Amino acid sequence: MLKMEIPGREPLEVTDLVLDFNGTIAKDGRVHNKVKDALCLLGRKVTIHVLTADTRGNVAEATQRLPVVIQRLAGENTAEEKAAFVRSLGGRVVALGNGFNDRLMLKEARLGLCVLGEEGAAVEALLAADAVFTSALDALRFILKPLRHRATLRA
Ligand SMILES: [Mg+2]
Repeated sequence: MLKMEIPGREPLEVTDLVLDFNGTIAKDGRVHNKVKDALCLLGRKVTIHVLTADTRGNVAEATQRLPVVIQRLAGENTAEEKAAFVRSLGGRVVALGNGFNDRLMLKEARLGLCVLGEEGAAVEALLAADAVFTSALDALRFILKPLRHRATLRA
């Protein structure tokens, strides 16, 4: 469990981190070593889920030895599938995404973070999020550093 205290909001005890893969934690299908380090740190405190259609078929390999659980999306409506997954975890979720199909889960999550990285982000994902970051690394470090979320999200 990871505690986030944001002035003007109820304290958030995060139990789960839900991550989109392509364009969010992976660039061209690969996860940067620094992102891996941040995930290892976060994995000691929360359960990390990677939601993916795994179009490239390389997610298991790209996340090898990382403390993440891969959730493969099966259906046509991946946006709803992602949001339903976040809902099923029960309210103490931080989600990271960049795509149009991440918009519903970013809204559903207690805290939705949009990653506007080199692969870009859908405007709808950005508008559904609570905060936006220029890289997954910045977003993950933000979760780990209490002073940062206090300053960015205080009421
Ligand atoms: Mg994506």
